[in-house]
Amino acid sequence: MNKYDSETMCKILLNKGYKQTTNLDKADIILINTCAVREKAEEKALSIVGRLADLKQKKPDLIAGVIGCVAQERGSHLFKRFPFLDLIIGPRNINSIDTFISKIEDGGGRLLSTDLSDKMMSFTKNNGYLKGRAASFLKIMEGCDNFCSYCIVPFVRGREFSVPAREIITEAKNLINHGIKEITLIGQNVNSYNVKDRARPTFPELLEKLDEIQGLKRLRFVTSHPKDLSDDLIAAFGKLRSLCPHIHLPFQSGSNKILKRMNRGYTRDDYIDLIRGLRETRPDIAITSDVIAGFPGEDNQDFENTLKLVEDIRFDNLFSFKYSQRPGTRAMHLDTKVADEEKQRRLSILQESQREITLSKNRALEGTIQEVLVEGPAKRGYSYLEGRTLGNKVVNFPSDINLAGRLVNVKINNGFQNSLFGELIQN
Ligand code: SAH
Ligand code: SF4
Repeated sequence: MNKYDSETMCKILLNKGYKQTTNLDKADIILINTCAVREKAEEKALSIVGRLADLKQKKPDLIAGVIGCVAQERGSHLFKRFPFLDLIIGPRNINSIDTFISKIEDGGGRLLSTDLSDKMMSFTKNNGYLKGRAASFLKIMEGCDNFCSYCIVPFVRGREFSVPAREIITEAKNLINHGIKEITLIGQNVNSYNVKDRARPTFPELLEKLDEIQGLKRLRFVTSHPKDLSDDLIAAFGKLRSLCPHIHLPFQSGSNKILKRMNRGYTRDDYIDLIRGLRETRPDIAITSDVIAGFPGEDNQDFENTLKLVEDIRFDNLFSFKYSQRPGTRAMHLDTKVADEEKQRRLSILQESQREITLSKNRALEGTIQEVLVEGPAKRGYSYLEGRTLGNKVVNFPSDINLAGRLVNVKINNGFQNSLFGELIQN
């Protein structure tokens, strides 16, 4: 989501005539887009902001801003801690970034904008920004109303709203006209699209409409919430031509007691049933998930239930996090906190178990032929290309010609921990 928001700001500023630079000393504007979901992310963001002090001293005209969830959460306190800052802008206000910057350039002084009622519904024109790209995100929702007891997102991203379908479809067509082959719909819980307002289209209906657009080769979405995963959505995996066989479906805990305390709105068995339904509909579906270790009140038995779920389901990949206490959330006030060493121990066990599962799943693809959307040169070197399979796994393969943006067939020769390696098969 932050990557998308940063790109939106980039597009707005490029459209105004600014140019991008990777050289901090040359920059006239530096905006740090921040994440507050865990304490560590926040600390990292603040330490980067701190480093701007020197640059600002060398170049007093530099416009320096903190954007996003930490800006929303801390507001004007950031001006006290970092007196050199010019801008503090919350995630719902980034679409006006050009106006804010103009005001500062006109000598209006420093500026704070953290209005959560802004609906931010316009998509930004991309004049050249997508050149050479094969895949793009498309935001269909903003905010969250679920208030999981550990989570800061509803406080910093505000109330949930769904972007009108006709705007989404127009934007999807625009992306495709600019050469995009793969669109990933994004939102805090994309499958809750229009659920709150009981409006149409539903999320599966929206997918159907997008699937009808000619030129769209691949459609994905992230993240989904188990409580709103409907039968129709599961069925969509069996019938929509462009919908990729991959779902990211965070489960957070395998213990009913903890799920309840987290306010997640489903049980362990509900979750297992969903996975069964998805795999029955689309046997090759890749499933990834998120889990939290050491939520307050999680005892050994709760943790064992989580570990067992990970071992039984065998996710393609799992993102596991130590519980991090977030200001303003309900979980902050729950007693029976888990000690940090114990959280770390549980996290390591989960990660170790998943490492083996991921590797064995990747190895199982050796010898298969996978359709790969080529994204560009691989990080490992110029004579290699990188792309993704339908199941969203990274593939590297040697090639002398740049096939960026093309769909090719690749025979997988090696399955590694984080990627696959193969060779191009002539179509
Ligand atoms: N809307 C998505 C998740 C968005 S936050 C969902 O409900 O599934 C991304 C991930 O960060 C979450 O899935 C969760 O695993 C993790 N997370 C959120 N708050 C956290 C906290 N306080 N401590 C640790 N992990 C957290
Ligand atoms: Fe956070 Fe829960 Fe909303 Fe996800 S659904 S963003 S975890 S409050």
